[in-house]
Amino acid sequence: MSIGPIGTVHGIRAWVVVVAALALQERTADLPGYLDTPLIPGSKWHVHDPTRPRPRVVTPGTMGMGGVASTPETPATAPSDAVVLFDGKDLSQWTSGGGEAKWKVENGYAEVNGSGDIETKASFGDCQLHLEWSEPSPGSGKSQDRGNSGLFFMQRYEVQILDCFQNITYPDGQTAALYGQVPPLVNACRKPGEWQSYDIVFEAPRFDGEKLAKPARVTVFHNGVLAHHAQELLGATQHRAVATYAAHPDKLPIKLQDHGNPVRFRNIWVRPLEAKSRP
Ligand code: MG
Repeated sequence: MSIGPIGTVHGIRAWVVVVAALALQERTADLPGYLDTPLIPGSKWHVHDPTRPRPRVVTPGTMGMGGVASTPETPATAPSDAVVLFDGKDLSQWTSGGGEAKWKVENGYAEVNGSGDIETKASFGDCQLHLEWSEPSPGSGKSQDRGNSGLFFMQRYEVQILDCFQNITYPDGQTAALYGQVPPLVNACRKPGEWQSYDIVFEAPRFDGEKLAKPARVTVFHNGVLAHHAQELLGATQHRAVATYAAHPDKLPIKLQDHGNPVRFRNIWVRPLEAKSRP
């Protein structure tokens, strides 16, 4: 396309388009993320694409899922049939690197302290999970370097934990994203230092020998707001690569990530679901 002289109507229009395109390019260059990564199968977006639409911000209400408020002082109680993974007192249900889980426990919470990821001693497949966490306050760092942790089902399927309150990162890596795969429907983050919640229904993938028979599926509520609805996972979480499945046991531990940021956790419980609920 040739661009006419600035003095003509066509020329002015063309120059406006060029300037707008350059401005967009400039803005994209400023956004955190990657465009040199592979395309996510079935989408037009790269893994960690900075130009992928950013979920809109929603201020969550005070009530969590199930109509029970978890106040800053008092975490909500677990249902009677739940397996309590952390009640604020100790990490006896957790292990780390084959030994004791060594995150700091005080004042009813456990805090990431650089001692490594922790995972449950017990294994789980299909389950309902509740977890509360709070981000370091005041917040520091940007993009993925701000309050990063993660909740991994079966040691490999991550629901991202990050401080995305007024913090921009690539949409498939923000809070409640299925990391590297699917951004959340909304950004329902609370401020750093405030307690936040996940209520999640996780359905494990099914394998027929080495072959995938049915992908994993998750429904996620973040602070009582729907972030994913029966969303299929593309595979085990990857950084800068396309997620893929590899056959694994029906039940595996749940893992919490030590990403070097002092994120706090409390009130973690899980309700294993009958496998027959999903043939
Ligand atoms: Mg993470």
